[in-house]
Amino acid sequence: MTSLASRPNHSLTVVSSVIVNYRVAIVGAGPAGYFAAQALLNQSETQVEVDLFERLPTPWGLVRSGVAPDHPKIKSVAKVFEKISDDPRFRLIANVELGRDVTLDELQAHYDAVVLSIGADLGRTLGIPGESLRGSLSSADFVPWYNGHPDYVDLDVPLDVERAIVIGAGNVAMDVARVLAVDIEELAKTDIADHALEALRASKIKEAIICARRGPEHAAFTVGELRDLLDLDATDPIIDADAITAALARTAAWPEVPKDVRQNLEAFKTISERPSQGRAKRIEIRFFLAPREIIGSDRVEAIVLGINAFVDGEIKDTGESITIPCGLVVSAVGYTTKALDGLEFVKGSIKNVEGRVLQANGDAIAGLYCVGWAKRGPSGVIGTNKHDASDVVEKLLTDISSHEAKGSDDDFDVILTERGIVVVNLGQWRKINEAELSAGESAGRPRGKIVTTDGMLRAAGNRG
Ligand SMILES: Cc1cc2nc3c(=O)[nH]c(=O)nc-3n(C[C@H](O)[C@H](O)[C@H](O)COP(=O)(O)OP(=O)(O)OC[C@H]3O[C@@H](n4cnc5c(N)ncnc54)[C@H](O)[C@@H]3O)c2cc1C
Repeated sequence: MTSLASRPNHSLTVVSSVIVNYRVAIVGAGPAGYFAAQALLNQSETQVEVDLFERLPTPWGLVRSGVAPDHPKIKSVAKVFEKISDDPRFRLIANVELGRDVTLDELQAHYDAVVLSIGADLGRTLGIPGESLRGSLSSADFVPWYNGHPDYVDLDVPLDVERAIVIGAGNVAMDVARVLAVDIEELAKTDIADHALEALRASKIKEAIICARRGPEHAAFTVGELRDLLDLDATDPIIDADAITAALARTAAWPEVPKDVRQNLEAFKTISERPSQGRAKRIEIRFFLAPREIIGSDRVEAIVLGINAFVDGEIKDTGESITIPCGLVVSAVGYTTKALDGLEFVKGSIKNVEGRVLQANGDAIAGLYCVGWAKRGPSGVIGTNKHDASDVVEKLLTDISSHEAKGSDDDFDVILTERGIVVVNLGQWRKINEAELSAGESAGRPRGKIVTTDGMLRAAGNRG
């Protein structure tokens, strides 16, 4: 059988006088998947070919559907991904979902090793009454909505209210608050999805309050995100100065204050000391508030937050609470990986030891690995996935070299196409990319995202 994208045969193992390579399937074309491919292709000990599967017609994972639209520099890592894809031993097999279009057993039978890099895209819930009311959303839905992920285009995002509450104390919470409460013209020059831009243009939101369960010294924001708050043209960042003074007093008693905590506290202090500029919008960060209940009859009308305190080195519920009227609540309290048949999960991640996927009894499953957020849970920036993937690939190569290559000469994309599955290959993805870039260019934006699978397949030339 021939491949949709021809690939030269780099040879090492000899099976029945045909020279073949090891073949590795990577499932999930986010940063972890690409970095795993890079680690496999960059080493010279073992000859491998890589097929990178992706459930959407578009690759890049959260670099496309997670990273905030007003952070274009971070998205430039996609150039690295495209360079990795240029390797003739690499193939993209997109618009193919593991568990829907192909099973793990099939991949394991065909490939010498399978690496799962499927991320963690389900939002953790708050587990409080009222969470299912209209206007209560998870960042796992709201973020892909504004980033044009085809599964979230029709999300109901009520923006006809003046105050939004964002639950969480990390960069995702900050991204959400910014998108809700920056000047629309700051978003209009980004690659934000058109439907989101239109909805946010009509938005009445004036204030986003980020509520953190613990104190300023425990917040997981990175300092750059905090400092950026001071550069927003139409938004006042607000932090209670007393909260920061108290946090500085608490940390003064620590034997050593880690650099990131020290820098965050300095940034919080600078923000808290800046007088309000009387701008049209506000982003406030409040500490020691834990969500207890979302109130409303048919939509969110207010949130009840328990007041915590830091007592004897521990966060304690004081028993007191405040109620803040609001019409939108977005929780950004972490992510879990969607369960896949035949795999064990621990705390929302694939059960593994150092990337080797484990069965329920703790034994490793031969030839099956995981990387990225599916392996570690939702922590770490894009670069974290690079070191992590190369560590796992090192183990994979050690394991793989102890047996001969399976030597299948069938190409999986061809098998799938014969089954009637519309596969998007690298050339076709690049047509989608070109179409988006040129739509962006004519609108004076970096990219005009296509947000439906049908539209993507049309741009790819897969659908008339
Ligand atoms: C909202 C948000 C903003 C972020 N902003 C930043 C930032 O500004 N800077 C930064 O450094 N980091 C940021 N991060 C973190 C960064 O995005 C992650 O570290 C990184 O994306 C994790 O990579 P991954 O490959 O494990 O997962 P993902 O990026 O989620 O990629 C997983 C891929 O697998 C695919 N997939 C899932 N299931 C299947 C299946 N069954 N079959 C086939 N394919 C499948 C998905 O479609 C996706 O393309 C952000 C994260 C979030 C959530």
